[in-house]
This record gives sequence, structure tokens and C-alpha cells, in this order.
Amino acid sequence: MEFIIRSKALYTTWIYYKPDRILFDVGEGISATLGNKIYGIEKIFITHSHVDHIAGLWGFINTRNNAMGSREKNLEIYYPKNSKNIEEYLNFISNMNRYLRFNLIYKGIEHEDIINLKNNRFIRAFKTRHTPGEKSLGFQILEKRKRLRDDFKNLNGNEIKDIISKVGKDKVLEEYIKKIITISGDSLPVSPDIIEDSDTLIHECTFIKESDRKLRNHTSLNEIRKLLNQITPKRVILYHVSSRYNKLIKKAKKELAEEFKNIDIYIVHPEELAEI
Ligand SMILES: [Zn+2]
Ligand SMILES: [Zn+2]
Repeated sequence: MEFIIRSKALYTTWIYYKPDRILFDVGEGISATLGNKIYGIEKIFITHSHVDHIAGLWGFINTRNNAMGSREKNLEIYYPKNSKNIEEYLNFISNMNRYLRFNLIYKGIEHEDIINLKNNRFIRAFKTRHTPGEKSLGFQILEKRKRLRDDFKNLNGNEIKDIISKVGKDKVLEEYIKKIITISGDSLPVSPDIIEDSDTLIHECTFIKESDRKLRNHTSLNEIRKLLNQITPKRVILYHVSSRYNKLIKKAKKELAEEFKNIDIYIVHPEELAEI
């Protein structure tokens, strides 16, 4: 299991990514659902200040401080820089929990900021388009990897070892950045240039039916289709779906999977906890 995701548009959204012990958004119900797993979480990335994405933070911090577990580990929180609502909320939480057993570190970040994780991985924030006046970010998990330079691609294993011992690793291998995951947060469709080459795309899809959309501040299933005609991630996880579509989820998933046969498609059901 890589992800635990709970997401119901307007009510709650959070994504726990186990390999890097990080959380994207922190909607209500998170600590009750994750229980002891909250002690493993070292970093939280908040996409924007809407309450369905942050309401669980107070409970999360309070539980992490008082329940049984390793309560001394630092907790880092990253959020869109100058987001007044989030800053006020964080100050309120700090005032209400004056005796924290762990260091609570929070920092506003902006487009293209980088936060290092472990194992040559890092997060890169990117600007998204959500509600006017609301600062919002999406996030990518990236990894520094090494590969053979073009000149050496036809050699076999022994030949490569040989040449490395003669000229050194750096002449034979080059570093590149692999996009592991792209997460949209609440947003209009993310630009294909940003998503391109991501193994996994986690994109919001608030509207299954185009006709239900009154304002342009979220993504519809038709727009996801357009996007997937331009880029081909290995896996697509749609989330932040409105609960008015509870009965349509299965059908929508089936149709999308038939249309895009080489992509693993998931739709997070608004009423269910998704483990992927
Ligand atoms: Zn939302
Ligand atoms: Zn929102």
C-alpha cells in the first residue's frame, strides 16, 4: 500500500503517501482514521486554505501530542506563502497547544520551491488555478536518478563495468530527475508540461457531469479526458469528486479504463477510504 486517501469535495480531503511519510492536505477525520500512523508523518503539504483541506490539522497536532506514540519527532508544515487564513489558523493551533512535545515548524512556500525528502527525493511546488484570490499549490515528488549516457547505451554489463573502472562513473552515468507523482490539489486542469513523464497523476475531478459546473474553479471528467489524450502517466488517481456522483463512480471508472487502456485508473469514492 502506497496511498491512503480520503476525499469528498466540500467535506474533507487528505492523501497519505506512505513511502515518504508525508501528507498532502489534512481534512477532517484524518487522525481518527489514521490512528497510530500519524506518528510516522514528518511533513504536511497544504494545497490551499479551504476548510475541507485543513480542518483536520488541529486534531492531528493535538492527537500527535497526547496519544501514545513517539511524540518527540518534529512536524513540518508547508503551505502557500502569505496565505493569511492558514497563518492565522496555525497561530491559533499553536496558542491552543502551548506545550507541544515536538517542534512544530511551519513555512510558507511558493511556485518552484523545493523541499528535500530522504533518499534523493524532493518535493517541488507549482502554482495552480483555483478560486480567485486564493493562493493554491500543487506538488510533485521527484527523485534524482542516474542513467547511462547515450554513448554507452549499447554496451553490456561487463563492458560498462570495464569502462567505469577506466574513466570513472561520472563520464559514463548522468544524473536526471524522475517525476514520481504529480498532485493537483483543487485546481483547473494542471498543464500537461508539468505532468509530463510523471509515473502517477493524482488529479482532482470535482465534476463528473460537465453541465453541473457553474464556475470555472475545478476540473471536470471531460477535461481529464482531454488531458489524458495529451499525456500518458502509468497511473491516474482521480479525487475530490462531489458526492452527488456516488452512484456514477463505478461506471465512470469503467468507461475511462476502457478509453485509456494503458493507464491504471482509480477514482476515489467520496464515501470510502481508498488504499492504493
Ligand atoms: Zn476542496
Ligand atoms: Zn478549494
